[in-house]
Amino acid sequence: MRELVLVLGDQLSFASPALADFEPEQDRVLMIEASGEATAVWSHKARIAMFLSAMRHFANGVAARSWPFDYVQLDDPGPSEMAGRLRAALKRHRPKTLRVVEPGEWRILQIIEDACKKEGISLKLLDDTHFMCSRHEFVQWAKAKKELRLEFFYRLMRRQYQVLMDGAEPVGGQWNFDAENRSAYPKRTGPGDIPPPAWFEPDPVTREVLALVEKHFPDHPGSLDQFGWPVNREQALHALAVFIKHRLAQFGTYQDAMWTDTPVGWHSLLSAALNLHLLDPREVITAAETAYREGRVSLESAEGFIRQILGWREFIRGMYWLDMPGLKEANHFAHQRTLPDWFWTGQTQMACMRDSLKQTLALGYAHHIQRLMVIGNFATLAELSPQQVADWFLAIYVDAIEWVELPNTAGMALHACGNRFTSKPYVASGAYISRQSNYCAGCRYDPAQRTGDSACPYTTLYWHFIAKHEKTLAGNPRTALMAKNLHRLSSEERAGIAQRAAGMLKHLDAL
Ligand SMILES: Cc1cc2nc3c(=O)[nH]c(=O)nc-3n(C[C@H](O)[C@H](O)[C@H](O)COP(=O)(O)OP(=O)(O)OC[C@H]3O[C@@H](n4cnc5c(N)ncnc54)[C@H](O)[C@@H]3O)c2cc1C
Ligand code: SF4
Repeated sequence: MRELVLVLGDQLSFASPALADFEPEQDRVLMIEASGEATAVWSHKARIAMFLSAMRHFANGVAARSWPFDYVQLDDPGPSEMAGRLRAALKRHRPKTLRVVEPGEWRILQIIEDACKKEGISLKLLDDTHFMCSRHEFVQWAKAKKELRLEFFYRLMRRQYQVLMDGAEPVGGQWNFDAENRSAYPKRTGPGDIPPPAWFEPDPVTREVLALVEKHFPDHPGSLDQFGWPVNREQALHALAVFIKHRLAQFGTYQDAMWTDTPVGWHSLLSAALNLHLLDPREVITAAETAYREGRVSLESAEGFIRQILGWREFIRGMYWLDMPGLKEANHFAHQRTLPDWFWTGQTQMACMRDSLKQTLALGYAHHIQRLMVIGNFATLAELSPQQVADWFLAIYVDAIEWVELPNTAGMALHACGNRFTSKPYVASGAYISRQSNYCAGCRYDPAQRTGDSACPYTTLYWHFIAKHEKTLAGNPRTALMAKNLHRLSSEERAGIAQRAAGMLKHLDAL
């Protein structure tokens, strides 16, 4: 055999460079399901099902081409870990070369390199052309920069790919409409009727996978009852079309809005399809830009959406490879507290957290502001261990793959890398959540109270955080005001906050 072509579970595209020179006479495709991948972190059932169903749909496409194919199923005998299964496949086929696109996780790269070394097989590792900025290009960009900030990278990508550009200038004369992307839903009427996203009745392949997941991982968190994610290219394209036609128009305005029992708002729900390569980022960006150019959506919405994909998604991926493996250990604030049990059940008295966690367990999904400003914000304020928090985020979302999860969690949400990704920590008191949502109206806590029994944990712990890091915050122009505001509080109040915060931090499980 010339080449054994390994297609990983997050590389499900026939445009993959791994398959570019495929010759059925002398090559073979290899795909591996491994239960160890579902237990490396205690994965949500929907996350496991998403990967397995999408892999099996892709496998049907390989089979339809009548290519030589080795598909290792979850309950096949032999080792259950990826490493053991890969080595067994190399032994079975003894190819001259293992050909694979660079994986989305540093750990998997180590496994592949190690297996090839131990089996004496040469490894051909290919650039992942799904991404619009290669790892090498990102390193070159980062080398020339004093500070690694999204905004500069995003402008470069806009210019390079001529996205939303009028020649050398951004369309509309402005690079960024972030300030227009922060509205809350109207407090009196709420979100109103939001057109639903595309959601798919499980087909026989998915139904078989759902049963398999229930059988093998019965005690894993989350539910499969509402599973309707796009699991093949046709469904992913349909989901994209529905989003562009019905939901993109209001995406920009309500990007940061939250409301009880409104789990998806105007968001696209395309992250899992993108991350498994069922969609190409270029076609998603083109669809959004075309909708703007044809006058179907505003520039604010199109730009706000494109920024997430051409900007954030590529930036985050570049940062992951730039900072691994150290990123996994990053802990700027030396936070060590254990994750409260209610992260896995949603049984907390904090209404914002309860709503975000309950929908996470039901769907494997929460939108960005819930992840960043409800869950991540709490984790920072409650001084939770970044490693435990990152493992939780990796386990619990259908779109979670380490290259995108870890920089978002450690780098963005927890400020575990200091100012490397952002110029200030993303921390906020209950006042922010109260402004952006209706959560507080139905909560046992009061966002305006810093002390006392009904003090909102976000508010108390926010002021505790500011007091603890006062000197550093005062020295940074982006956070100086936060530190200054502390001086508006009397010394009694500061003592009260310190006391209440100590009680909360000691009994996080009871919040
Ligand atoms: C703590 C934390 C953990 C996260 N973990 C993940 C993860 O495991 N996987 C993941 O795909 N995203 C992750 N994100 C980013 C973001 O929250 C999700 O991409 C988004 O919520 C997915 O929902 P959506 O498809 O409806 O996105 P939309 O709001 O509709 O955004 C459109 C697309 O832009 C991309 N995007 C938006 N924000 C980001 C971002 N910050 N980083 C990278 N891509 C982005 C996604 O591909 C998304 O589908 C995380 C964010 C935080 C704060
Ligand atoms: S009062 Fe505090 S804990 Fe309750 S919903 Fe509002 S922000 Fe969340």
